[in-house]
Amino acid sequence: MSLRVRLALLYTAIMGGTLLLFGAAVYITVSISLTNQLDRMLEYVARDIIAQTKASTPGPIQIDFSTIDLSPDLLVQVWGPNQELLAYSYNLPGYLQTSLDPEGLRSGKSIFRNTVVADDELRVLSVPLVISGSNRVIAVLQAAVLREPIGATQRVLVFVLSIGTLIAMVVAGFAGWYSTNQVLEPLEVVTETATQITRADDLSRRIMYQGPPEDEVGQLIQAFNQTLERLENLFNTQRRFLADVGHELRTPLTVIKGNIDLMRRMNCTDDESMDSINNEVDRLTRMVGDLLLLAQAETGNMPLASKTVELDTLMLEVLQQMRVLAKDRLILKIEEIDQVLVCGDEDRLKQVLVNLIGNAIKYTPAGGEIILSLAKVDNRARLSVSDSGPGIPAEDLPHIFERFYRGEKSRTRSKDGKGFGLGLSIAYWIVRSHGGQIDVANREPTGTVFTIWLPLMEGKCMEDKTGPLK
Ligand code: ADP
Repeated sequence: MSLRVRLALLYTAIMGGTLLLFGAAVYITVSISLTNQLDRMLEYVARDIIAQTKASTPGPIQIDFSTIDLSPDLLVQVWGPNQELLAYSYNLPGYLQTSLDPEGLRSGKSIFRNTVVADDELRVLSVPLVISGSNRVIAVLQAAVLREPIGATQRVLVFVLSIGTLIAMVVAGFAGWYSTNQVLEPLEVVTETATQITRADDLSRRIMYQGPPEDEVGQLIQAFNQTLERLENLFNTQRRFLADVGHELRTPLTVIKGNIDLMRRMNCTDDESMDSINNEVDRLTRMVGDLLLLAQAETGNMPLASKTVELDTLMLEVLQQMRVLAKDRLILKIEEIDQVLVCGDEDRLKQVLVNLIGNAIKYTPAGGEIILSLAKVDNRARLSVSDSGPGIPAEDLPHIFERFYRGEKSRTRSKDGKGFGLGLSIAYWIVRSHGGQIDVANREPTGTVFTIWLPLMEGKCMEDKTGPLK
């Protein structure tokens, strides 16, 4: 059964149930109120008759109904102590032979009862007539009236309430169906789009929603679109990754195979070919190592030491090392250096610095400069690497820490064969695993600034801890 039908039925049932209860309450209240009215009227009549006939005074009872002004629908009988009929009203002679309420006659107290006499439903009040001053019952007065008007009102009430309930149930059913349709319509679009996406394998599609974005459906669609965006990014990254890995693997493998073929043809091992093979194998090993490290980092299993690291010494060490790489092509200098201690894995932190400075050297044209700085800011260490290169295009900035992401220019331009688009992701994960943060921004007028924030060492480090720090 569809959700629409279930909701429409639920609305109908709730409306029906509520109106049924309401109808029952109205029916009972109206019936009680009408019966009360009859009872008040009978009481009034009985009191009036007793007063007019002075029936509660000593002596034989003498009531002449021809002298009493009675409403035509009222029937009155007066019964003696031996159940003999002493007097009666003449308006309903068919009832003369029997008591209007035999049980009321015997009850010995004032009582209202419903009775049926000669197929007529009556409301009867029986009142014992007692001589004032004594408790002796000398007669019982019974006053009755037809209950037909109440019955008629009750029948009309039942009819009106039933029809009203039925109409309200039908209306509630339609209203439920309509409103559920309105709510579910956008969800159908979601289902349709999701099916189309699956069929056409097209993650670039998004779901359009005309309603307010802050309502429940709007939020659902927003979440769905965000999921699609994320999936699209993941698939694109994966496609890029496959293309990149394929490309990166083919080049060294072709070189290795070429050199082996050459040596086989020449029937001797040649040093130059061996060196080339060695270099390519190194490159492949590095790439596989990077991939493994990233896989470990992303699953939270990157092995990390936790020792005291002097960041200033580390920075100077890396600077010396990288100056060899920059040769005279670029100026590498330190702008500011504080003595800073952090807890962490020295080799991994060095790897981050080598990656950042290596990138700066790779992307900055000859004659440019690379500036390093290390300072304490509040309770954190701030380490920055800034270059005067071309900067990173705004569209690449949000993605450069993603795995295998390489700026378009770097992809086409990088001929040194060293970059896989993994360096910054590894740097990101290492810094994160140290409880820190890495940011990137473009520098004015040109260039890039990478800033690393790390928590300063407090007390002692948990020496030789293996596994993720945080
Ligand atoms: P790659 O191996 O391509 O250098 P990275 O992960 O180290 O991979 O860097 C990702 C991308 O970020 C690079 O392809 C490049 O487009 C961009 N990038 C990183 N550092 C710099 C920099 N200093 N100047 C300009 N672009 C940079």
